[in-house]
Amino acid sequence: SEKSTEVDKKQQAKGGGMVHKKAENIPEWYAEVIGKGQLIEKYPVKGCFILRPWSYKLWEQIQGWLDSQIKLLGVENCYFPMFIPKCYMEKESDHLDDFAPELAMVTKFGNEEIDEPVAIRPTSETAMYAAYADWVQSHRDLPIRLNQWCSVVRWEVKQTTPFLRTREFLWQEGHTAYAEKAPAEEEVLAILELYARVYEELLAIPVVRGTKTKAETFPGADYTTTVEAFIPATGRAIQGATSHHLGQNFSKMFNITFQDPKDPSGKEFDFAYQNSWGLTQRTIGVMVMVHGDDKGLVLPPNVAGIQVVIVPVGIKANSTEEEKKTLAEVSKKYCAALQAAGIRTLLDDDNTYSPGWKFNNWEMKGVPLRIDLGPLDIQKGQFVMSKRNILDPKASKRNGQDKTMVEDVRRTLDEIHKEMYSNALAERDGRLASIDQWKDFSPNLNSGKLVLVPFCGDPECEDKIKEKSKEEAQEVEVAGGLKMGAKSLCVPHEEKYNKSCPKTCINPDCTSSNKNGVKRRTLFGRSY
Ligand code: AMP
Repeated sequence: SEKSTEVDKKQQAKGGGMVHKKAENIPEWYAEVIGKGQLIEKYPVKGCFILRPWSYKLWEQIQGWLDSQIKLLGVENCYFPMFIPKCYMEKESDHLDDFAPELAMVTKFGNEEIDEPVAIRPTSETAMYAAYADWVQSHRDLPIRLNQWCSVVRWEVKQTTPFLRTREFLWQEGHTAYAEKAPAEEEVLAILELYARVYEELLAIPVVRGTKTKAETFPGADYTTTVEAFIPATGRAIQGATSHHLGQNFSKMFNITFQDPKDPSGKEFDFAYQNSWGLTQRTIGVMVMVHGDDKGLVLPPNVAGIQVVIVPVGIKANSTEEEKKTLAEVSKKYCAALQAAGIRTLLDDDNTYSPGWKFNNWEMKGVPLRIDLGPLDIQKGQFVMSKRNILDPKASKRNGQDKTMVEDVRRTLDEIHKEMYSNALAERDGRLASIDQWKDFSPNLNSGKLVLVPFCGDPECEDKIKEKSKEEAQEVEVAGGLKMGAKSLCVPHEEKYNKSCPKTCINPDCTSSNKNGVKRRTLFGRSY
């Protein structure tokens, strides 16, 4: 609007600054925060976005940590082509049916039609498993544990949102094959735990670990485990990352077989047990949504590309050359000492901008900790730290001591992570309602909550719940304004989400044979 352009211009002069308020208009706030925070640039193909260095740095942190963790489990990296022959895609029919509507195909090059069209990978099960079949003869060739870091293309028909749902996205995809079911299933959970740690330890976001219902299971998998995050500002959940046990479904289609070591005749063959698992750049979008505020991005210290920015301050017209020189020296010394301690630090000693402009700029870009260093501080042997996660300027400040500079900074970064996580956790927990009866379903949902309910697990019943909750939202006020139906997010693994679960499905119109045989609560909510 005109007004916001005017405010925008004024803000720009002061080093940027946000116009939209998170609580007032989430879509506009999100677009502004990722634009001005220099994470994203628009691109002229719908659903595709440019990841600028400020966001790629975040991805590199996530990638670096996860990559080293999966290598510790014995997974190796590799790279398969992005093009998949159509005949491979067609081998697993559930898989094909589900991905077909989003599949981008190359049918032409130059002016000529291609003999056999190729798909651009939406995920690489079918690209990889024919090779696995060639590689596996005996059980000694197993397990195979491979991962690739790449991008995939899903021509999403749902609304696209930068990071959260894009048509091309960056991810890692792990694909493993085992002779036995048990170690494969162990791996599914080990990977899920790593994904949970990406959210909790790197991004400071709590997640619920669980298993998807039948309706939400990955096409071609025996079961899908997931970490589910929550975005308080919209009251919507989002699937954080998934780890699938494929059972023998793909190995039967691709013929990944080995001689059964228990069969002395050597004639019996067995099919491999497989997993696939993936985590995407969606992580970054969830982080922006959960932690960002009215001043812009708030980056959790463990993923921030720059964790600490040092801004020299307090130089006045009457400052002496000696003071200026000492300030420059001490600033450089601090920066070097922090960098040597492995803390990602930037010294912003660009004299063409005022300190005020710099404060705004680094706040908008979400740098977790700012150190203001001036001649007076230096005399006193101290410095001032401002924590980005706290909006009140007074409350956000801490003094650090020259003598213990590195420890003070490290401790404060740690404190920021803990505060960000526990705030997000308190907000999320406050929005979880355990309910037993249908009459409580929509009122809780419409007030922006997720609900833990007894549910039969039946896909048809799940559809009914989606429809009913959508209908019941039409005539009432809905937090976030989006009157979509609720879907199942997961059946949580942790017992704390399963307290006194009734045996009867919450849907009074349930016709499932399992209607009275419910064992665990299922988490439902509006979702991205
Ligand atoms: P899937 O291979 O379908 O299990 O997807 C793996 C993970 O990718 C999901 O758990 C989502 O977190 C994420 N994801 C799915 N679609 C998109 C998308 N269009 N853009 C970004 N991330 C996505």
